[in-house]
Amino acid sequence: MTLSDDLGRNITYLRVSVTDRCNLQCFYCSSHPQTPEQATQDCAETCRFLPQEELLTDAEILRVVETFAKLGVQKIRLTGGEPLLRPNLSGIVQSISQIPSITDISLTTNGIFLLEQARGLKAAGIRRLNISLDTLQPERYRTITGHDAFQRVWNGILHCLELSFSPVKLNVVMIKGVNDDELIDLAALTLKWPVQVRFIEFMPIGRYTSWNASRHLSCEEMKHRIQQRLGPLTAVAQGRNAGPAEVYALANALGNIGFISPISRHFCATCNRVRLTADGHIRLCLFSDNELDLKAAMRNGISDEELTKLLQDTIRRKPAGLDKSIEGGTETGKTPSCQRRMSTIGG
Ligand code: SAM
Repeated sequence: MTLSDDLGRNITYLRVSVTDRCNLQCFYCSSHPQTPEQATQDCAETCRFLPQEELLTDAEILRVVETFAKLGVQKIRLTGGEPLLRPNLSGIVQSISQIPSITDISLTTNGIFLLEQARGLKAAGIRRLNISLDTLQPERYRTITGHDAFQRVWNGILHCLELSFSPVKLNVVMIKGVNDDELIDLAALTLKWPVQVRFIEFMPIGRYTSWNASRHLSCEEMKHRIQQRLGPLTAVAQGRNAGPAEVYALANALGNIGFISPISRHFCATCNRVRLTADGHIRLCLFSDNELDLKAAMRNGISDEELTKLLQDTIRRKPAGLDKSIEGGTETGKTPSCQRRMSTIGG
């Protein structure tokens, strides 16, 4: 069985947010107010995490993944919030890795608990890791995330390389005026370490987003600056199932550099993914709040057959692409179409 939308895009990739809780408060991602004006709004609405009962249980997550797997989904990424805060994460990974048609289980994490959990996660079935690291400066790390944890995360990254996770990707959200002065230092990491440093354009997500066009730095501009300072970037061929990153390498590098351009050169036409939010909604497009409440359906007793049909019918309506108001990343003052917090979507 396959899962495709009305535009003929095949859905083979499900991203699962296993919790909305996070142990960092990155200013551009967390649910906390982002500007003084927003700080006057009701904090009960903006700062809270979901009550436990609003999160999917392990069994509910597994049921959704199994249903998607029967419909042809092969790739699962676990994310959050911070997924390493989810109790029994290894158990969830182990159960998913026993589904024969799932060929790839990966994880996106802030890395704070990798020293403690990486070995267990590898044994459970995770091979590919994305670790978020927007800066190499400990003081700036504290400013961006609210926590003095740079060294801990860096040690976690080294630990994962020792454990032979492959690939280890370092997610860097590039924000003009915040960390773009570190573009070269971050790219140069690939000369010394076998990691993929992947630069991600800053996206307008959530009602309290701190995104605006003046903070947007396009991947083209990043590439240009890197080549000026570090020499030519050579394209690295990607497999058929590769994601939306364009990947390049510097001469004599141990690692490579990925660029993800959701704003300046979006990849909607080839999008193969949907998302399961921490509170059990299927999100058809990162930028669209048009969702299906699967948790309610499951808790109201939907049968396996009905669940399969509901997913097939819903996926057909996957939006064609992102809202024109943000395309190109150059227009100021537009309200993003996406109201939901990134911490419940998972990136
Ligand atoms: N806590 C985990 C982590 O830090 O990787 C997983 C969740 S986090 C929401 C997933 C990814 O989304 C991170 O790499 C984060 O930097 C990225 N992200 C969050 N808000 C973003 C935004 N507005 N634009 C681009 N990337 C964003």
